[in-house]
Amino acid sequence: MKAPDFFAKLPNESVNVTHQRPLRSFFKLLSRISLLILGLYLLLALITRAGVNFISHDQERALFEYRARAEAAQQPSIWPDKAKIQSLVDKLLAHYPATRPDWIFSTCSKDANAFAAPGLRLIVTSGLLNQIQTEIGLSLVLAHELGHIHKQHALKSLGSEVAWALLTTLLGLQDDTIAGQLSETTSLLSSLSFSRDQEREADAIAIEMLLATYGHLEKSEEFFELALKEKENSAVNFTILSTHPDTAERLERIKKHPRYKNNTPTLVSSEWTAPKPPASCN
Ligand SMILES: [Zn+2]
Repeated sequence: MKAPDFFAKLPNESVNVTHQRPLRSFFKLLSRISLLILGLYLLLALITRAGVNFISHDQERALFEYRARAEAAQQPSIWPDKAKIQSLVDKLLAHYPATRPDWIFSTCSKDANAFAAPGLRLIVTSGLLNQIQTEIGLSLVLAHELGHIHKQHALKSLGSEVAWALLTTLLGLQDDTIAGQLSETTSLLSSLSFSRDQEREADAIAIEMLLATYGHLEKSEEFFELALKEKENSAVNFTILSTHPDTAERLERIKKHPRYKNNTPTLVSSEWTAPKPPASCN
């Protein structure tokens, strides 16, 4: 019988030393956590986005009424030309049925801009009113914002904000309440950024609204032409450029529209004078 082979050797002293690289493991873990958070955010954004689709205009109105009333209280008490903007909005909506904004506000700013804020709020800057000279030019800007309001884009873009607030609260990354965060978000107009698809949708509604109202689009491009002309002029900042699709592309879409030309000029009132911003803005 042969004795089993036996080789004496020293014990393996590196048995407690990991063969894995700790830094590599750390980054692996970090990337997995990041992916998990991203997935959770996308899921929450999807849920909240789907959720806001079920919010009616009436519910939207009710949800943001407190904020709109607070904003109304801060509005200048004397703004005679607000009626002109209201009647232009009514004229557009009489020809193209869409949601009527509950509130028309002005904000003093050099920037030529207009906003559609959640709660059926239409906001125009004094910079816009100081620049636009034609009825159809202002109509295009207003109709675009009416498109955003009708499609509840502001509320929908808030969906991802809600998801973000929910996620950061769940992860304990911030101490503020969701309500606090939301009210802060909705108070900041700059945080209302619409997607390119939403911008295109608002543009398409604006074009249809103008065609239904005026029968053509001629000279409605005033805002874009002003924007392109003034691009280099730092005195007037067309901030709308940064949030909206390419100005030249939008201008071309209007000018190349088969129904661009005004074949019945009598339809455009020559009496129209541009509404002025509140005197307190000057
Ligand atoms: Zn827009």
